[in-house]
Amino acid sequence: MKLSNEDVQKALKALNDLKDVRGGITCPICKSNNKWDLNQTAFYLPSFQKKDGIFDFSYLEYMPAVACICGNCGYVAVFSSKVLGIDF
Ligand SMILES: [Zn+2]
Repeated sequence: MKLSNEDVQKALKALNDLKDVRGGITCPICKSNNKWDLNQTAFYLPSFQKKDGIFDFSYLEYMPAVACICGNCGYVAVFSSKVLGIDF
């Protein structure tokens, strides 16, 4: 699912605010902090529960998230959309 234009703007603002607080977001792999691209897709990270040692697929929780990609090496950083103020 694509993020709405409003959600993209909220995510970009939140990430820029984070950069301001931290002085940049450094990639943990290549140590670059020059270019992060917001992936404009909404992600839902699933969490399954086990019942008697077997995955119970009738139970599903998920965490809504947005992802940024390091423009230098391709590392993907995932952020909780709720923390960024985006509700989808
Ligand atoms: Zn990188």
